[in-house]
Amino acid sequence: MTTLLGCIADDFTGATDLAGLLARSGVRVSLRMGVPDEAPSNTAAVEVIALKCRGAPVAQAVAETRAALKWLQTAGAQRFFWKYCSTFDSTAEGNIGPVAQALMTDLGAEQTIYCPAFPENGRSIFMGNLFVGCQPLAESPMKDHPLTPMRDSNLMRLLEPQVTRPVGLADRLTVARGVAALKAELDRLAAAGVAHVIVDAVADEDLNIIAAACRDMPLMTGGSAVAAPLPALWLADGTLSASETGTVVPDLAPGTVVLAGSCSAMTRAQVADYIGRGKPTFRLDPLELEAKGSLEALDWLASQDLAEAPLLYATAEPESVRAAQDKLGAARAGEIVEQALAACAIAALHAGARRFVVAGGETSGAVTQALAIKQLDVGAEIAPGVPWCFSSSAGQRIAITLKSGNFGAIDFFAGALKILTGLEAT
Ligand code: ADP
Repeated sequence: MTTLLGCIADDFTGATDLAGLLARSGVRVSLRMGVPDEAPSNTAAVEVIALKCRGAPVAQAVAETRAALKWLQTAGAQRFFWKYCSTFDSTAEGNIGPVAQALMTDLGAEQTIYCPAFPENGRSIFMGNLFVGCQPLAESPMKDHPLTPMRDSNLMRLLEPQVTRPVGLADRLTVARGVAALKAELDRLAAAGVAHVIVDAVADEDLNIIAAACRDMPLMTGGSAVAAPLPALWLADGTLSASETGTVVPDLAPGTVVLAGSCSAMTRAQVADYIGRGKPTFRLDPLELEAKGSLEALDWLASQDLAEAPLLYATAEPESVRAAQDKLGAARAGEIVEQALAACAIAALHAGARRFVVAGGETSGAVTQALAIKQLDVGAEIAPGVPWCFSSSAGQRIAITLKSGNFGAIDFFAGALKILTGLEAT
């Protein structure tokens, strides 16, 4: 089928988050890991390309997203969405702004919006300031993120150094006045030369208004939630025709592995919850990995009954992360953990694991790359923005869920496995 909406996400869990929300509409959503080498085939109405470019040098991130745009255009997409984290994770150099700007140039778009709000997950924007739950972004646990510590909560200030054209705000008071008022404000800003508009949103109703006002923009940017209403809007007006719905759950052996490389506050709580259930767990330490390699972890894994769903985790408190980073450097500490968890994923697959629960955006990128996963069919959500996906690795059908650091409830790991069993029974 011809693609209507083409999405590009800056990390793998961000892509599954977006794909899961878009799939709520019943429209078929296909997720590709990286820009496919082949020309588009077996395409869905909504195609999501997952990149791993959040922390990449700007030139590389721009080149990769432009290649993704080209592939999506070949697939027939007419509207595009640039998806980044709902906590606006980026460095002072980018990549959110530079990528948006490059995509705008390629699409001939004069203006785009930035709306990382995700009210269901506690991310809201008011007067251009991003909140995580009750806390401003820069006071939230995001201030301690291993790769993109966020030390300012104001999205205009964060975006301005990343782009060349003016940045503006469409505030909540405008959004609350409805679709026509927001459209008029965007037009007014466009006439004043404002190319990059931060749009406030504190509730799902705001996102519905924003999506309705911006549905004809060639390019929208934001978190997943502002894209979620789009398919239903297009189904309602006939831009999109209802296609086959519901992803078929394959027959899977019970072998399971849980891999956590996220150090986000919610993942820390989820790991603690899973340990508290008496599940078999193994802690990976970057300093020990650097000194001795991942053999100990692999030996431990080999001795486990995969039906018990063992957990391997590098998840640690900020002090412990900082200690490892001081010794190894942030990039090396991250890389070494990602490599170890990727090796564990391959070993688990060979040992019979067919169900994979992965926590962490970068971690998910490393694991899916290691499992050579290229395309996933997006299934039912476990938590807002975290769907079960179905794919193949080394000729085996597998189920995999890729959880962004702060997503999911405290019992996410156990809950995810229960939901998969429920899906199989239906
Ligand atoms: P999130 O989704 O929470 O941002 P990510 O996987 O994207 O999680 O990022 C976490 C990064 O921190 C990864 O690069 C991971 O390898 C690294 N990391 C994990 N555990 C540790 C640790 N104990 N010390 C240092 N870095 C770590």
